[in-house]
Amino acid sequence: MSRHCVVCQKDAAAFGAFGIKPRADALCPNCGSLERHRLLLSYLRARTPLFDGQPRRMLHVAPEICLETIFASACGPGYLSADLNNTAAMERMDITDIHHADDSFDVICCSHVLEHIPDDRKAMREMCRVLRPSGFAILNVPVMPIAETFEDPAIVEPADRQRVYGHFDHARNYGRDYPDRLVESGFDVTVIRAPDLLDAAEIVRCGLANRCCGEIYIGTKRGA
Ligand SMILES: [Zn+2]
Repeated sequence: MSRHCVVCQKDAAAFGAFGIKPRADALCPNCGSLERHRLLLSYLRARTPLFDGQPRRMLHVAPEICLETIFASACGPGYLSADLNNTAAMERMDITDIHHADDSFDVICCSHVLEHIPDDRKAMREMCRVLRPSGFAILNVPVMPIAETFEDPAIVEPADRQRVYGHFDHARNYGRDYPDRLVESGFDVTVIRAPDLLDAAEIVRCGLANRCCGEIYIGTKRGA
């Protein structure tokens, strides 16, 4: 079966391999999207009003190249990309100390960022603070098949992190208790998986069958 990329909306004979231990069926040869990008865009198109043409204030943390133009064009002048280190982003931002007012954003996209941040709970509280009560936040992280999140603040050296967490720049391995941290930080949480959006054939066609496709974690401000 040929593949379809929902990010660039083009077909390909196959998706390429990607990863430190390369996995097949991952990388769109046209736009560079991975499984997680395609799952996220499938969700945003099917279940949210992001593409209804209305202007929105959106905070896109650590902007993925294959998504930033799509989000910027959907939101108009209200789009803001931000990053701690990447100077190509529109604003330099430490998400544990966000210099924006409470209730500033309709949409926050912060995908595969929190696992890099030593004080991830502070970042969660900050994003909850700046999210509008009517808004939603995408807070995806890689979740391992373990019950409890594992972290040891004493593990800081890249080689040690690579050995313990499987990535030189990760501060922890999240487990299935990940949503609890979001709840403790002020969010209500909804979890969406590929089968919630697409049938089995579409999951294969869109290159979402790998385990590392992951889930989508959607946070809304509790009590909103
Ligand atoms: Zn693509």
